[in-house]
Order: sequence, then structure tokens, then C-alpha cells
Amino acid sequence: MKQAKFQSPTGMHDVLPETQKYFQRIYNVVENMANFYGFKRIDTPIVENAELFSRGVGISTDIVQKQMYIFKTRGDDFLALRPEGTAPVMRSFFQHGMFNLPQPLKLWYFGPFFRAENPQAGRYRQFWQIGLEVLEEQNPAVDAQMIQIFYNILQELKIKNLIIEVNSIGDSQCRPYYKKLLSNYLRARESALCGDCKKRFRKNPLRVLDCKDEKCQQIKSQAPQILDHLCDECNSHFKEVLELLEEVGLPYRLNSYLVRGLDYYTKTVFEIFTETITKNKDQEGEQGDESRKSLALGGGGRYDALAKLIGKKDVPAVGGALGVERIIQAMKAIPVKFPAEPNPHVFLAQLGSLAKRKSLKLFEDFRKERILIAESFGRDSLKFQLNKANKLGARYVLIIGQKEALEGMVIVKDMESGKQDNVKIEKVVSEIKRKLKRHK
Ligand code: AMP
Repeated sequence: MKQAKFQSPTGMHDVLPETQKYFQRIYNVVENMANFYGFKRIDTPIVENAELFSRGVGISTDIVQKQMYIFKTRGDDFLALRPEGTAPVMRSFFQHGMFNLPQPLKLWYFGPFFRAENPQAGRYRQFWQIGLEVLEEQNPAVDAQMIQIFYNILQELKIKNLIIEVNSIGDSQCRPYYKKLLSNYLRARESALCGDCKKRFRKNPLRVLDCKDEKCQQIKSQAPQILDHLCDECNSHFKEVLELLEEVGLPYRLNSYLVRGLDYYTKTVFEIFTETITKNKDQEGEQGDESRKSLALGGGGRYDALAKLIGKKDVPAVGGALGVERIIQAMKAIPVKFPAEPNPHVFLAQLGSLAKRKSLKLFEDFRKERILIAESFGRDSLKFQLNKANKLGARYVLIIGQKEALEGMVIVKDMESGKQDNVKIEKVVSEIKRKLKRHK
């Protein structure tokens, strides 16, 4: 097929009709879950002041350094297409004085986000996220419950082999010391780090821990671990989160390399994956070892430090986001079944201009009575219309030709028995209603 002249921008995709049912199902599951746990929906603009992210998310993060779409408005404002949803929610919290509302405040959102990433499978420049945030709450039980809610959503969507990875990255009491330790350790091994990490370890040594480059693996495995250097408060907070995850029976594992890329996180961080395990065959075709592939579906954590970066007050908070495209990818792999769309009970066929005029009005009468009806007003051939009615599986076809239109009549054809009746146009809706009731 010849390529169309215009394509969607690189890394950005259309959500076509056949994918909308996935979006709808995900939305419904999330909405029900959010309502159950007492979350209220919030929508923030798709653009924000760029400074909200450079301050909130952090000037040295990949998101701000490399991935933000920034533009200057005619009024000389620097705006950014939102790369994430947490900083905007916190901005809105302050802007609308939501701290005066009963606390904690639980908010959720569903919308598109933008990051100028290198496009690759499962990584887009415009993607959809579902986010949930709990503000003004410092209890570790809320961290655990947040993880539980994300897990529940994915489970309800029937996604299998879910695994949660958790870590604690400390807070302003203990992280600076750990960062120094890690920096010293990395400095001594700088020449062996990958190109990116050589640059990033000075500003943000934690980022080296989640580097996937082969070169950095060996160095990472010997590095000092944050869990050994948490202050008492972070330590007991994390211990409690783990105990609670244990208590509710969630499948988790510790990942001391999990740091998440953003500056605002404190204490608990988590990610959720779905894993596919493939049994490899050896050369003789026998079952050999296994290979694991994991798909990151979402992540989040506690962000007690964010509020002070963009507002005037400390607001302990915890939240996270799920990637809709990734969830759909996992749903397609299952694959998830959807109920068939209901067939119309009735098909309205017409011939000639007067008949068409009458048909349009009659069609509306059926809609008002909520009777499923289809038509093909653009085509005048009766053969074509009857064929279409057949394909759609309509039980009754209503035919209005020139003669019927003049006489105010409709031919009602039962497609099962082939029987035909003439019915007055004003009576046809009630007649069909009566017939359909009989078949129930
Ligand atoms: P993050 O905000 O980076 O923690 O991402 C949370 C989740 O959003 C990830 O686990 C992915 O499922 C999804 N996600 C993040 N970035 C992208 C992207 N560029 N394309 C598609 N999904 C993404």
C-alpha cells in the first residue's frame, strides 16, 4: 500500500476504533476501583509551566533534560507538554487551597502524557497513563494500599504473572550521605562506566543503579546499598510497608537498584511488571533453561519532598501511574475476550426521496424507544439494503418504497419466516415493540 502523505508524528499514535474497547475496559475497571477506595477524578491541563517540572521532577532528570516538549507562547511563557501527572496534581492542590478540604485527599486521573523518547516497542512519545495520588498522608499503610490498588486494577484486567518490585530510597536525612558514599565508590570506577553514566553519576549517582548497560552491571553489583544506610525513620517505614505487603499476600521482591528517575521520590518506590517465562529448547530440542521477559506496567512511590519544591508547605504523599498502552499490550497477549456487539433487531430500508424523508423521522422514533435499528440511507438499491440487513442479523426489515411513503405505510418483513405485513407508519414502532417482546 502506498504511504499516505501525512503520518502521525514520530512516536505518537492514533487510538483506532478497534483499540477503543481496550481503553474503555481499562477506564471502567480503574473508575470502579478508584470509587471504591474513595478517589475523586481530577483533570489538569495538558500543558503546564515548564518550571513546574524542572523544579518538581528535577532539573537533572532525564525527563527534564532530554524528554520534555517545551515551547514559548506568544506571551513569552515557557510551557511544557506534561511529561507526568504528579507535579500537576500537586500544583492544583496548592492553587485551589485543597489543603483546606478534609484530608487525606485522594485523586485519580486518566489522560495523555508526552515524552520525547527514542521510539521503540512499547515506548511512545504520546502515551496514556492512569494515575492515583493520596495527599496529606504519611502512614506506611497508605504506601502498601497504593501498591495493592495498582495490583488490583491489573488483576481485575486479568493480567497474569504480576510481580511488584519495591525499594526505599530514603529521605533528606539519609539519602545525602548514601549519595556521597555511592559517588565515591563510582568515582573510583569511573573509567569502567558506560558513556551515559560517566556523565550522570556526578549529578545523580542513583541513576547509575538503574542503568541497563552491560558495562555498569558489574560495578552496580558491588556498590553500597541504600537499604544498609537508611535512617531509623525510613528504615521502620519501609519495614512496615514490607510487612503489610506480606500481610495482604502481594507478590513482591526487593530490588535495591530500583530508584525511579525523579527527584521528588522519598522512602518507598515501586514498579509493577508482568513477566513472561519462555522455556528454551536446547539443540536436541529438549527443554532447556528459561528466559524471562518483563514488561513494566506501572510504578510510583512516596513523594514527601515534592510539595516543598513547588509550594510553601510540606505535604506527605504517595502515588503512582500505570501505562495504558503497556496494559493493552499485556491484554492482547492473553488474549482478552470482549462480548460481541449487539445486533440491531430492525433494519430500515427505503427507496426514493419521499421514503427517505419519512425514514429519517421513523429512525428517530425507534431511537427514542431504545430499539436497536440500522439503516443505509446512502444506498438506494433494495437488494443492497436487504443484503446488509441479512449480514447484520436483523430480525425485521422495514421497507418504505415510493408507494408506501405516499400511503403512510411500511412493509414489515420477518427475516426468519419471510412473512410480510403492511403496517401504518405511526403504528410501526409499537408493532415492532410487541413482536420483539414476544421473542424474549
Ligand atoms: P513512569 O511515569 O515513567 O513511572 O511510568 C509509569 C508507567 O507508564 C510505565 O511503567 C509504563 O507502563 C508507562 N510509560 C512510561 N513512559 C512511557 C512511554 N514513553 N510510552 C509508553 N508507556 C510509558
